[in-house]
Amino acid sequence: MYLYNSLSHKKEEFIPHEEGKVSMYTCGPTVYHYAHIGNLRSYIMEDILEKYLRYTGYDVKRVMNITDVGHLTSDGDTGDDKMLKGAKREHKTVMEIAKFYTDAFFDDCKKLNIKTPDVVVPATTYIDEFIRVISSLMEKGYAYEAGGNIYFDTSKLDKYYVFNDFNEEDLAVGVRDGVEADENKRNKADFVLWFTKSKFDDQELKWDSPWGIGYPGWHIECSCISMKNLGEYLDIHCGGIDNAFPHHTNEIAQSEAYLGHKWCNYWFHILHLNTNDGKMSKSKGEFLTVSLLEEKGYKPVIYRFFCLQSHYRKSLVFSWDNLDNAKAAYGKLIEKIAPLTQESGGDIDKAEYERLDKAFREALDSDVNTAMAITVLYDVLKSKANAATKLALINDFDKVLGLDLVANAKLFLEESANASADIPAEVMELVEQRKEARKAKDFALADELRDKIASLGYEVKETRQGTEISKIQ
Ligand code: AMP
Ligand code: ZN
Repeated sequence: MYLYNSLSHKKEEFIPHEEGKVSMYTCGPTVYHYAHIGNLRSYIMEDILEKYLRYTGYDVKRVMNITDVGHLTSDGDTGDDKMLKGAKREHKTVMEIAKFYTDAFFDDCKKLNIKTPDVVVPATTYIDEFIRVISSLMEKGYAYEAGGNIYFDTSKLDKYYVFNDFNEEDLAVGVRDGVEADENKRNKADFVLWFTKSKFDDQELKWDSPWGIGYPGWHIECSCISMKNLGEYLDIHCGGIDNAFPHHTNEIAQSEAYLGHKWCNYWFHILHLNTNDGKMSKSKGEFLTVSLLEEKGYKPVIYRFFCLQSHYRKSLVFSWDNLDNAKAAYGKLIEKIAPLTQESGGDIDKAEYERLDKAFREALDSDVNTAMAITVLYDVLKSKANAATKLALINDFDKVLGLDLVANAKLFLEESANASADIPAEVMELVEQRKEARKAKDFALADELRDKIASLGYEVKETRQGTEISKIQ
């Protein structure tokens, strides 16, 4: 398998540290509000990567944190602490907010068929571990105390900007326009490991530490949770592209300073989902959540299908029109799969199974090309193989794609049967004749049949999902 690695800026063959095993870490959500569908694009694409690794036989262990304490990196942070802001907004405690939105996050994941990682760690449960690693960084001379906070000293590293040759003046927190400088830092890129004094001092959650009562910075969470559960050598670290700098850059700085060797080999970054007017946000205009999609009549799996139609390393534009196109395409796919579920028996055509499965693997081996994998799914439907072979392929591909293909195909048949059960046989017969007429491009006859159907009290319409029949009210 070839994966694009943000560290080397190229596609590399994926070789894990230990044969047959993969350690995988994912930055989890900050649980101060519902996840937006942009966040969930990242989790869907990471889920595909994990499931495909399992499909090819790897034993995967995947770990994720939950950012339930702060989201702070330095006193230069703008605005409010997100967790505190959420608690104030809803007149709840920070822990109540964290619990509520953690549950909401996993509900959304379930609806989108995103598997829960093997290990999920809320940051508030790992305070001792953060203190232990920060103490070690102090002992090794990589961290210093200033103004009551513990900072990581980026000047001690040979190379800090690992993902890009960033222009420090443009990117370092504390030097951009409108962002306050943190006077305590020795270097512009230094970041806080432990806060005891900050402008965010009204924190609800604080813990004792060798440096006084306080709370951890954001970046240290992921380093500690990953190293504790996945050991000193991490195979794949995932996250949205916005996390590459400074979050992942700082994770690497801390972890490698602590370990004394290279930590993670492959960095898998997902590009953003944007709206037509720019960045997806939780405060701007209509806040796009899974529940909103459901309210508007879209099954969550349609959003998953929409995401899979594009490559994870390209920005994706969300619009209701684009989602409608995905809905129509998904509907057609389900309609084509439906008759296969009614045919039983027959031996699996091994050669055809292998040919198509190979094509599916080639697509995903090529830097998780999900759009190409979907094309192979269409090739299965076009294949001359029998229904048993096609169904076996669809079921197997869906272990990775997670699109509920066969379940929704069966549901489609049930719903069609229920709908036509209420429609008189005479009308159904005319509808069938009209379908034939349209196929034969005899539109005059089709119109005549539509009028006949109307005279019996029914309206027939061609939609992108197929033929719809409804009673005229
Ligand atoms: P957060 O809850 O802000 O910590 O973000 C959770 C995950 O969503 C992180 O991996 C982010 O990098 C990712 N993310 C944030 N915004 C977007 C977006 N518009 N599209 C895709 N992923 C995003
Ligand atoms: Zn992280």
